[in-house]
Amino acid sequence: MENILSRKTKIIATIGPATMNQNVIADMLKEGVNAFRINFSHSSHEQASQIVNLIRSAEKIANSRVPIIGDLQGPTVRLGDFNDIEVNRESDYVISENEGIIVNEDVFYNLVDVGDTIIIDGGRFWAKVKEKNGRKLKVRFMTEGVIGSRKTIAIQGKEYPLKAPTEKDISDLQFAVKAGIEGVAISFIKNKEDVLKVKEIAESSGGSVFTVSKIETISGVNNIKDIVQVSDYILVARGDLGSHFPLVKIPEIQRHLIEVALDYGKPSIVATQLLDSMTVNPIPTRAEVTDVYTAVTMGADSLMVSGETAVGKHPVDVIKWLNDIAFEAERNQNLRVKGKSLDIYDKFAEGVVMMSELIDAKLVAITTTGKTPMRLARFRPKKEILAACESEFVFKKLQLTYGVMPVLLGSIKNDQQVVQDLKASKFLKAGEKIIVTRSLKQGVTDAIKILEVQ
Ligand code: PEP
Repeated sequence: MENILSRKTKIIATIGPATMNQNVIADMLKEGVNAFRINFSHSSHEQASQIVNLIRSAEKIANSRVPIIGDLQGPTVRLGDFNDIEVNRESDYVISENEGIIVNEDVFYNLVDVGDTIIIDGGRFWAKVKEKNGRKLKVRFMTEGVIGSRKTIAIQGKEYPLKAPTEKDISDLQFAVKAGIEGVAISFIKNKEDVLKVKEIAESSGGSVFTVSKIETISGVNNIKDIVQVSDYILVARGDLGSHFPLVKIPEIQRHLIEVALDYGKPSIVATQLLDSMTVNPIPTRAEVTDVYTAVTMGADSLMVSGETAVGKHPVDVIKWLNDIAFEAERNQNLRVKGKSLDIYDKFAEGVVMMSELIDAKLVAITTTGKTPMRLARFRPKKEILAACESEFVFKKLQLTYGVMPVLLGSIKNDQQVVQDLKASKFLKAGEKIIVTRSLKQGVTDAIKILEVQ
């Protein structure tokens, strides 16, 4: 329990068939989940509504409040409908519109060439294109298994020229806003305009959502500096990155994306196959433990699991393991961040963090928009940041930022009242040294007070 409360890295769990049960969701919350994800690639609006209701009732059981992130499918190409096909390694198969593995999409046939590597079902199947005759390909599989309809199909190193957001994304986004989903993850982002369009649609649908930009395409990686500045969070989507880049490039891309996010003071999320073997086994592999540990020491704010909790056999154990590995990694993490885009308020925040370490004080950030605790978090203070806010949306948005413990207060009148409220809710103890920081005008960080809790 102690390490659940003091863990600084945040955990996001995807809900799916294995976890559509309020008691399982409540157990995951008790083990320290900080946010849930609904994947619109696999959930209809009816199922998504059901998941939202289950989470909201589980929150009451577990006495906690977390954001839900709706993950938009984005522009992607999928296989058509056909009877399952069993493929073998080193054997040849047909991809066409009416024979073998069915693909009906023009963009696919326009882009694919002999020599390309085709990746199906997010990396489960790899095949090399041997022949192309118009809209009929002969491909040689490098992997084996049973391929079913509607799986994704990508061409390594190439990008489909598809527009985002799609009609389906717009409808899912409008549904998410109406359903009170707080965050939206945007798939296959290529540039900052893709993020701005989603924000505009969310606003015109009458909602506030925070944006999580999923970086998984070649353009997404190349344009990361622009994308990060207009996003609330970025997500290192290693599944689809592996369909666009050679697998050996993924570790460096992960490090680069996390570093750019830290440079610009935006939190990052590392996702996909973190504890993949736990979909079946109750204990992770040594390599998985090392991967999760490394993501934390690289500076990730959050860890996100997908199949492990959506369809896996041990969803609650997955959360326990993430918690324990992250907690251990934090003890050995010694990250000091020097941002590239530092304005004077970022510099002020850096000074506040240095001061908190000099005098061994906890940080209390009083915030309207969430900016002050995020500014502080970027410098990775050793002690936690208590973020006092009045807005439930800001409270939830801050759940995914490293080292920030958001606290929702009924009202914020002055510093003394906030400190007393935090003491009454046991976040602070009498005699503890604290630094209270806030803004004198909205959106900045420019005030500091050193206090001892009375
Ligand atoms: C990914 O590609 O790693 C990812 C998280 O996206 P999705 O689960 O939508 O494939």
